[in-house]
Amino acid sequence: MHELAITTSLLTIALDQARAAGAGRIVSIRLKVGELTGYVPEAVETNFRALSAGTAAEGAALLIERAPLRCTCRACGREYPARPDDFTCPDCRGSAITITGGREMFIESMEVESPVTPQGKGPS
Ligand SMILES: [Zn+2]
Repeated sequence: MHELAITTSLLTIALDQARAAGAGRIVSIRLKVGELTGYVPEAVETNFRALSAGTAAEGAALLIERAPLRCTCRACGREYPARPDDFTCPDCRGSAITITGGREMFIESMEVESPVTPQGKGPS
């Protein structure tokens, strides 16, 4: 159940941001969860429901977006979507690669009830 720890810190960040923005209730939180993190969106959601009870984030919609695994080949520089079971470069078959996507887990945006939206991002 490693989702519990990550969900706890996500909620803390969300509440801190809402407080810093002078916001009231958190309406929705858009999360980016990389494929490689191994986090199960349903588990994150379940933990979120339990942890947010009684906070400004209670009842907030949790929008979880999966971030696909992406790699950049160090030999030829190609960036490509990879599968967790095959990281090799599709062009040169090189295996010296840098993972550029899929390990992230962060709050992409948040919607709160007045007075301001964080990060200057409006509702999408
Ligand atoms: Zn390559």
